[in-house]
Amino acid sequence: EAWRPDDEDERRGAIGPVKVRVPAKVNLHLGVGPLRRDGYHELNTVYHAISIYDELTARRGDTLALTMEGEGTGELALDDSNLVIRAAHALAGYAGVLPHARLHLRKQIPLAGGLAGGSADAAAALVACDALWGTGLSRDELAGIAADLGSDVPFLIYGGTALGTGRGEAISPVLARPTTWHWVVAIADVGLSTPAAYRELDRLRDSGAAGAPLGPTDALLGALRQRDPRVLARTLGNDLQDAALAMLPALADTLKAGEEAGALTGIVSGSGPTCVFLAADAADAERIAAELNAAEVCREARVAHGPVAGARVG
Ligand code: ATP
Repeated sequence: EAWRPDDEDERRGAIGPVKVRVPAKVNLHLGVGPLRRDGYHELNTVYHAISIYDELTARRGDTLALTMEGEGTGELALDDSNLVIRAAHALAGYAGVLPHARLHLRKQIPLAGGLAGGSADAAAALVACDALWGTGLSRDELAGIAADLGSDVPFLIYGGTALGTGRGEAISPVLARPTTWHWVVAIADVGLSTPAAYRELDRLRDSGAAGAPLGPTDALLGALRQRDPRVLARTLGNDLQDAALAMLPALADTLKAGEEAGALTGIVSGSGPTCVFLAADAADAERIAAELNAAEVCREARVAHGPVAGARVG
């Protein structure tokens, strides 16, 4: 029987509110393999957590309830379809506790942006509820529950930079000398559906119009071990980029504008439409972001750095 905090604990300040911060992710390498029989594609990816965060606060309550502010408010359903609610139910079921919590989401990661915001929120909910309910699971156990919620969710439990295989849910950390990379994140006016991007890639491949698939991750992993962003820039790649560009041709202008503003390279993040640019240093990133904002080739350009930790209390 897991230990369950009571209201007395909360009154004393022992439990709650629990505040969890969770980062967005970009894929430094997103190799999309063949479509599997379960409908997922086999992936060979390198995830990288960056300093754009959602924040989830969990308080004790008599039911399970979710409120939100920020990106996607009014658009995103707060019912059982929300990944936060699904994650809370999944943890409660696993741990054998009642799924009671009052959850509040402060969202800065754009919806359907290719930055895995929904997955991040699911990871945040697992970590927050685990602390609130005193279920005390290990990160590996939480990542196991996370895998059933979505392919990107386990990575966001760990954060950092990590290799993802299978459909992306099998995570192994990438060990590299601590280096901070500086990014500019160009958020689009619209979202792109992840399943639609994969369907578009399948269509491009079937008609012979897709580019050659990315090879293994070795070149990228080698570049991460060096500290030179110019070396890293040459190894970034995303097999979904052509599909995102086919669905939103204006993204080509965003990518071009970033490179003209001095980015070392730019790629579409995940299934898009967010574009991420690698900058030589923090000052360059600021300058490139300001230029992109002035050029009006995206809704908003923000600077970010990585790698950062995954979903964490505090
Ligand atoms: P990915 O990079 O993992 O493909 P994404 O960043 O493109 O994801 P998300 O914002 O993570 O897209 O979510 C896509 C869809 O998931 C949303 O349009 C919404 O229908 C659903 N969803 C459910 N819960 C959430 C949540 N808490 N935040 C965002 N989306 C959610």
